[in-house]
Amino acid sequence: MPNFITIETATELLKNKKVVAIPTETVYGLAADATSKLAVNKIYKIKNRPSDNPLICHFYGLKQIIEWGFVLNEVEKKIIKKFSPGPISLKLQLPQKSKLKVATAGLDSVIVRIPSNKIFREIIKATNVPLAAPSANTSGRYSPTTAKMVWQDLGKKVDGIVNGGKCKFGIESTIIDAENPTLIKILRPGPIGVQELKELLGANVKIKTVKPISATPGSKYKHYAPKAIVHTFIGSKNLKIKPNSILLLTTQDIKNWKASKYYDKSIKINSLGSIYEPDKISKKIYRKFFEIDQKGFDFIYLSKLSTNLFSEKGSGKALAERLSKVLSQ
Ligand code: AMP
Ligand code: MG
Repeated sequence: MPNFITIETATELLKNKKVVAIPTETVYGLAADATSKLAVNKIYKIKNRPSDNPLICHFYGLKQIIEWGFVLNEVEKKIIKKFSPGPISLKLQLPQKSKLKVATAGLDSVIVRIPSNKIFREIIKATNVPLAAPSANTSGRYSPTTAKMVWQDLGKKVDGIVNGGKCKFGIESTIIDAENPTLIKILRPGPIGVQELKELLGANVKIKTVKPISATPGSKYKHYAPKAIVHTFIGSKNLKIKPNSILLLTTQDIKNWKASKYYDKSIKINSLGSIYEPDKISKKIYRKFFEIDQKGFDFIYLSKLSTNLFSEKGSGKALAERLSKVLSQ
C-alpha cells in the first residue's frame, strides 16, 4: 500500500528532519529541511544522488528569501515578481554563514524557487523553513509527475508521499542566472521560455542559453531516462523495429506511419498528441515513460522532437533538451 500522507503529517515529518515527497507544479519533489545536514543527507541517500550535485531550495515568497539574507539585483527582482510563484528558479549568491550551506554541495551560490502548487506552499508556510527538494526519483531516471510514480520508484524509502494528482507542467523549472543584469544565462531550459523573458526584460538585456555542463553540476549526469532503451523513430525510412518495442509518436507521425508502406499494425503505438502543442507533450512525457516501463517494453521508438522544431515560447525547447538526454543513439 502506498504511504500517502496528509499535509499535516508531512509538515510534522519535515519538522522532525524526515524526507517526504510533495507535489509541485513542475514535478514531484523530495523535500527536506534545507538547513539540516541530517535531513539533506537523507535526500542524497534515497535518490542515490551524487554528492557534488546541489539542491534547489524552495521558499514561500520573496519576503522569505530576503529574510534569509539574500540580496537581489533589480533584474532578479523583476524576474521573480513576474514569474513567481511558478516554474522558475534563480541562482543567487549564498549569504555569509547561511544555514543553507548544507544544501549547496559546497558551492557559494544557491538556487531558489517559489513554487505555486498550493499543497507545497502550505507545507513551506507551516514548516517555516526553506525546503530543499530535488525531483522525487532515483538519480538518472525521469522525474515523477504523479504520486503513484513516486511510490513505484522510491516506495518506503521516503517517510511519506503527499498525493496531489498530476503536475501542471510536467517538466522541471527553468533555471536562470541573472547575476549580470545585462546578460541573463539560462542554466536549464524549462516551462518559462526565452520569449517570455525577452518580453519582460526588453531588447537591452541579452539572454543566453549556456552549455549547462559548465554551469550546473547536475547536468553532467545521465538524466530523465526510462528503463526501456529509447531510439529515434525514423518514420517510413525502412525502420527495423526490434521485438518488444512500442512507438511513442506525435499525432502527425502516427498519421504518416499508418500511411507508409512499412506500416505494421502488430507494433504497438502510444500517442504524444500534436507536435504543435509542446506544452501538452511536456506535461505527459514522463508519465508516458512510466506507463511504458510498467508494461515491460524493452524499446521505445520516439518521435524526433529536436530543438529547431519549437519556438522560444513555453516548454518546447526544454522538452527537446530533456529528450536529447534520453536517446540511446
Ligand atoms: P534537480 O536535480 O532536478 O533538483 O535540478 C537541480 C539542478 O540545479 C541540478 O542540475 C543542479 O546541479 C543545479 N544546481 C543546484 N544548485 C546549483 C548551484 N548553486 N549552482 C549551479 N547549479 C546548481
Ligand atoms: Mg532531477
